Amino acid sequence: MNHTTFLVDPDIVLIGSGIMSANLAVLLKRLEPNLRIQIIEVTDTLAQESSYGWNNAGTGHAGICELSYTPNREADGSVNVSKVVEIFAQFDESKQFWASAVEEGLIDSPKEFIRPVPHMSFVHGQEQVDFLRARFEGMSQHHFFRTMEYSTDREKIGQWAPLLTAGRGSEPIAATRMEQGTDVNFGAVSRKLLEWLSKQEGCGIATGHRVVGLIKRQDRWELSARNLATGEIHNIRTKFVFVGAGGGSLTLLQKSGIPEAKGLGGFPIGGQWLVCDNPDIVRQHQAKIYGQALDAAPTMAVPHLDTRILDGKKTLLFGPFAAWTTKFLHEKGSYLDLPLSVKPDNLATLIKIGLTNLDLVRYLIQQGTQSMADRMSVLRVFYPAAEAKDWRLVDAGIRVQAIKKTDGEAGIVHYGTEVITNADRTISALLGASPGASVSVHIVLQIVKLCFPQLTETPEGKERLDRMIPSWNFDARLPGEAERVESIRTKVDMILELD
Ligand SMILES: Cc1cc2nc3c(=O)[nH]c(=O)nc-3n(C[C@H](O)[C@H](O)[C@H](O)COP(=O)(O)OP(=O)(O)OC[C@H]3O[C@@H](n4cnc5c(N)ncnc54)[C@H](O)[C@@H]3O)c2cc1C
Repeated sequence: MNHTTFLVDPDIVLIGSGIMSANLAVLLKRLEPNLRIQIIEVTDTLAQESSYGWNNAGTGHAGICELSYTPNREADGSVNVSKVVEIFAQFDESKQFWASAVEEGLIDSPKEFIRPVPHMSFVHGQEQVDFLRARFEGMSQHHFFRTMEYSTDREKIGQWAPLLTAGRGSEPIAATRMEQGTDVNFGAVSRKLLEWLSKQEGCGIATGHRVVGLIKRQDRWELSARNLATGEIHNIRTKFVFVGAGGGSLTLLQKSGIPEAKGLGGFPIGGQWLVCDNPDIVRQHQAKIYGQALDAAPTMAVPHLDTRILDGKKTLLFGPFAAWTTKFLHEKGSYLDLPLSVKPDNLATLIKIGLTNLDLVRYLIQQGTQSMADRMSVLRVFYPAAEAKDWRLVDAGIRVQAIKKTDGEAGIVHYGTEVITNADRTISALLGASPGASVSVHIVLQIVKLCFPQLTETPEGKERLDRMIPSWNFDARLPGEAERVESIRTKVDMILELD
């Protein structure tokens, strides 16, 4: 559905209609119903870019299966699990926020955006088997992961995921599994939240408009949005801007001229999936299975074999594979995006990144030149009996990796998510992707706390947040909170029909 409403002088303008803007806009409106909020989106319908179901893997990242969050063993052989514990707590906040939206009748039919799918990690070779055992021992002691199972038994692993073991040789293998994993359609939940917002007093959504100008004059931001169909320019003024434009955020930050954007760069990496629709194969698999990163692959390129449920249809997806691109957006991007983002203030950083990340460059060349047979051989690490005839290659979303100057270093690549807020807290922007959508509620809550402290510090604000995100104000990771967290999760899972 397309939208055409522009408000006059709204309090807040959010650029983009993905999961970040959707969560932030709805969180703000629920915290302060009098806020006047405008969304501007370049595509004709909402959430068609990275948050769109087919453009990401839909993993509700909770640290259960992603080995990249626990990369190394310590000197004593143990595995540091603090990162996975943190991600689990943050994904819980997303689930709580969406559950409260369902409970209060803002959105309905949770099965249309979240489904239970067990999360597994899978490794082969003795060294990795030992690593997974150490990771399991570290994680299963924490109350978040107490139901995790570990096995090296082929029969057991075959019961969990028959495709993994059929036709496999005799090398040692191991897997962990937790039932409480999820598959999320981030595009569907974004659209539901924004459709609710569009019906609220003092809220406007305009699709088919690209923000082409962003400048601060006195105490107001002035934005120009071009109607892609007519070419007309619509000007709008506001006190606060959220740049939730995904791959388009860097270009807009550069236009804003804020000092915090100086030296920032972006490097796009396209994604591709192998997809299987053969019902005999799809039926056999019910899990999201993550493996080890291939040599020099960025952490976001860790291969996984995934059950996906999109628009009610179950399918199988494997990847991601990386693809060369110079576009920052899959839908409305231009091949000039990368060259035009190179500025005098980020040129040195970009060159340094190229020179110091030769492994990454080699990886990208290898990925960009690989054949279907090469991709099938990676798939067979997970599913030895896979046949090329059952799989097709589709494009996924583009991740624009944020590149920035850091102390002493000319530049480093950030695979995480980077929030940039200016000194007077009138503009906030989100760069980067991973773990992105899953922890989006946690990210936008930090933005609200920083830029709208008046909304979270009053007794009414706190009471509203308690209802929306019950664990927002205590540390759910602490052992002493296990019971409280469990009871919140039981209720959330019931509302989201995950139980
Ligand atoms: C291959 C891949 C796999 C992924 N897998 C996962 C996963 O399994 N789990 C997970 O949690 N995360 C995953 N992610 C990350 C996740 O998809 C993103 O973090 C998340 O979708 C980002 O949401 P967003 O709202 O910031 O951006 P987007 O959803 O991209 O939204 C930005 C919006 O801004 C619009 N826009 C851009 N420029 C302008 C402009 N100038 N004017 C107006 N509108 C504009 C775009 O059209 C778009 O709709 C994956 C990403 C990729 C690429």
